[in-house]
Amino acid sequence: MSQNVLASAAGVAVEAKRRRTFAVISHPDAGKSTMTEALALHARVIGQAGAVHGKGDRKGVVSDWMAMEQERGISVTSAALQFSYRDVVINLLDTPGHADFSEDTYRVLTAVDSAVMLLDAAKGLEPQTLKLFEVCRQRNIPVMTFINKWDRPGLDALALMDEIEQRIGLKPTPLTWPVGIAGHFRGVVDRRTGAFVRMERAPGGADLAVEEEMSADEAAERFGADWTTATEELELLEMTGADFDEAEFLAAKSTPVLFGAAVANLGVSQLLNILVELAPPPEARPTVAGDDRPVEGAFSGFVFKIQANMNRTHRDQLAFVRINSGKFERGMIVTHAGTGKPFATKYAQQIFGQGRETIDEAYPGDVVGLVNATTLGIGDTLYVGTPVKYPALPSFPPEHFAAVTAADTSTYKRFRRGIEQLDGEGVVQVLRSEQRGDGVPVFAAVGPMQFEVATHRLEAEFGVKVTLNHLPYEVAARTDEAGREILRAESNIEVMTRVRDGALLAVFPHRWRMRTVAGRHPDLRLDA
Ligand code: GDP
Repeated sequence: MSQNVLASAAGVAVEAKRRRTFAVISHPDAGKSTMTEALALHARVIGQAGAVHGKGDRKGVVSDWMAMEQERGISVTSAALQFSYRDVVINLLDTPGHADFSEDTYRVLTAVDSAVMLLDAAKGLEPQTLKLFEVCRQRNIPVMTFINKWDRPGLDALALMDEIEQRIGLKPTPLTWPVGIAGHFRGVVDRRTGAFVRMERAPGGADLAVEEEMSADEAAERFGADWTTATEELELLEMTGADFDEAEFLAAKSTPVLFGAAVANLGVSQLLNILVELAPPPEARPTVAGDDRPVEGAFSGFVFKIQANMNRTHRDQLAFVRINSGKFERGMIVTHAGTGKPFATKYAQQIFGQGRETIDEAYPGDVVGLVNATTLGIGDTLYVGTPVKYPALPSFPPEHFAAVTAADTSTYKRFRRGIEQLDGEGVVQVLRSEQRGDGVPVFAAVGPMQFEVATHRLEAEFGVKVTLNHLPYEVAARTDEAGREILRAESNIEVMTRVRDGALLAVFPHRWRMRTVAGRHPDLRLDA
């Protein structure tokens, strides 16, 4: 191997090691957007060598980002926010903030190396929190937990720890512990060093909170009962062995916990430090063939998100690629693993809103947007050099089904194109049913919000009004041709073909109906 190649592999390894690629996930309203802005703001403000300037509110943050992009200090795409902090490059991937769980969120989670889960101190675990924790566990994604809104009355800190342990089965290992109950936030004890940091919202809404280290004696004198309670709770934590353990955290068996209030910047710098110190950098990812592609190997990555029509004057499709290995250089010709065909990356970009910025190089953990990517689909692998293929992104079993018809038959051609587009982007799953024929596809979704997005986009982008006829099914399971024959005799059950991958899905009105049918036909293949 030439000196040059060796040197560049070492360079890639160094760059990969200083990446942290994660998503902030939460039940809606727990403070995800607020935290995202606070993290970026913090990193920038601290990066400016202590230049803390007061600002009345956060309204300027987004436009600040655009200005920052130009300065190259911080880059924003509609898929990922990139900024640097303490010599680490942070990629914060955006997850859709819908009220219902959708496949988009799941796909984003395939592209991260860790996640920050926000809990609302007053609400604790909410329905989406539980689902998201479950997805992280299935994928072995290490999760850091941030108990947010500690500036407002909320639940008891120890009770919250119990809830995490009991209902999620993850062992909470608090890294900081609050002094003062929710609503009377005095600061936190750093459990690793034992130091107490007093915290206070900055006067006049300045960017950073007031933080000062204070001795235990002084804290005891100043905060009396609050301090005593906190020290007792800390002893209790000590006794129960709730200490951070790196191996357990990386194996997604325990979750480090922090306390704070994103809206007042309290605890945000601690979270940034934890991301830098404890969150894992990109590592070799499993491949279909089981061969390891080290992060410093040749370029490879996969498409985790497709977005169309960002530019209304020029209809195109953007594919967002998470880099798994190697250095990405704009202009490089990569191979599309599905077809073996070359794909030119001349127009690799980072995108923010309508603005686009050309990106010249990127490393493992980074996200690049490829323009004119109509040949790429969700989950597709791209690589250079030795072939590699990453597993297809798993499809979630849908729970909502609706037959779709174009309201006006003269729009049928556009209707077909629209359906194809939405299927390619993975907005909904498109199914075909023998009973309904090709003219009436069936939309299947994990959350009903996906239907709204699909119908809205068909109308706005393709000029097609559609009628949705909701079908009385709630459960889908994979089956095969033999299963299709067996199920023909059953009423109120359909077998449909998923267009994306040709999978046969048997759909049932309820779970118990699926069970009784399965009981009646021991040979029937059904994978839920
Ligand atoms: P998202 O839906 O998870 O993105 O939540 P947002 O970031 O939009 O926040 C929801 C609401 O909670 C907004 O009104 C925020 O101002 C508020 N909020 C967020 N963080 C905090 C916090 O730390 N303390 C308090 N009191 N309110 C917060």
